Amino acid sequence: MNQNQDLNPLFPSRLPNVGTTVFTIMSALATEHQAINLGQGFPDFPCDRKLISNVNEAMLADHNQYPPMIGVSELRHEISQKIKNLYKHDYDPDTEITITAGGTQGILTAILACVSPGDEVVIIEPAYDCYRPSIELAGGKVIAVSLQAVRDDNGQVSSYEIPWEALTSALNSKTRLLIINTPHNPTGMVWNLADLDRLALLVQDTSALILSDEVYEHMVYDGAKHHSIASHPTLAARSFLISSFGKTYHVTGWKVGYVAAPAALSKEFRKVHQFNVFTVSTPMQYGLATYLSDATHYLNLPQFYQAKRDFFRAGLDKTGFKLLPTPGTYFQCVDYSKLNIPQASFNEANFCEWLTKDVGVAAIPVSAFYERPTESGVIRFCFAKQEKTLANALERLQQL
Ligand code: GLN
Repeated sequence: MNQNQDLNPLFPSRLPNVGTTVFTIMSALATEHQAINLGQGFPDFPCDRKLISNVNEAMLADHNQYPPMIGVSELRHEISQKIKNLYKHDYDPDTEITITAGGTQGILTAILACVSPGDEVVIIEPAYDCYRPSIELAGGKVIAVSLQAVRDDNGQVSSYEIPWEALTSALNSKTRLLIINTPHNPTGMVWNLADLDRLALLVQDTSALILSDEVYEHMVYDGAKHHSIASHPTLAARSFLISSFGKTYHVTGWKVGYVAAPAALSKEFRKVHQFNVFTVSTPMQYGLATYLSDATHYLNLPQFYQAKRDFFRAGLDKTGFKLLPTPGTYFQCVDYSKLNIPQASFNEANFCEWLTKDVGVAAIPVSAFYERPTESGVIRFCFAKQEKTLANALERLQQL
């Protein structure tokens, strides 16, 4: 969505094909038309008061000056402990964990740290929108492969699979980095253990590093487990692991996350990080460290979000949308192509615009996660919302 085409910069744009992100555009459209915003991924309910108290206490305890560049020690130790408990991998809090200004800054910084001009970086589309521009800023070449859409007898997408053959052909001696994302935004697809084993085989004779975007790590449903790159020792040895407290603790506006990576990778990461943001808000880090020490705050999350997912899906079942599976994340994808309305033939961006303006529910076109024009008739709703918000949205969607 390039809104800047007609502006004539005085210098060559570093990102000529980039406009404002689809999430920002759809949120603005939702506000303008007073639509229920199920577009951009963020909760509409408050975070735990205890977390706010923890941050407040840190401020009152005068933790208000620069923290260490790599992040507050207490928080790095708690993260290391959490990863050890969940994924059985030992990251040294002093040399292997860095606190970042959210997942996006961690991703850009990791890419700038390891990708040199001419290096190839493999991404799997639909891909979160920050990967490609980050690679381009580093001078890297994006090699995009696509998740395989599995279609039912009606020709509608029923699920997605990892494109192993395309990945095998995409990797070569110029591949510096491969970016994976599990649970996956926007499809909700999750990687299982066998997938990680297969990935390990795929990269074993290459010098490709891996960036594993796991910001939805605590949102995996139906009793399944999240399989972190950290849980696979041979992969962990060549990977940057990205996570986000915004997603986990319902505080997307705080912009605090972290990157865990072996010491050699973290050393290079920190060289870039220190001249990028230098460091991240001190009281937030102390508050998060205290809050993170109680594991129930993330262990309860699958149950919490699964209830929302099930409520939302039950309501969508009464519409003409076809539901795609949602094993993880707080996104529900639906196929609108068989709705019995003329707008069912719209492309995804136009359908979302119409849905926002005329029906009063904002969503995100999945086509925005692809570089080349790709239309599958699939849009993404965010269900990280209060039940009453979801109920109101469902009421509108059930009119279609
Ligand atoms: N991760 C969020 C999403 O996919 C958006 C974050 C953003 O707007 N940059 O909706």
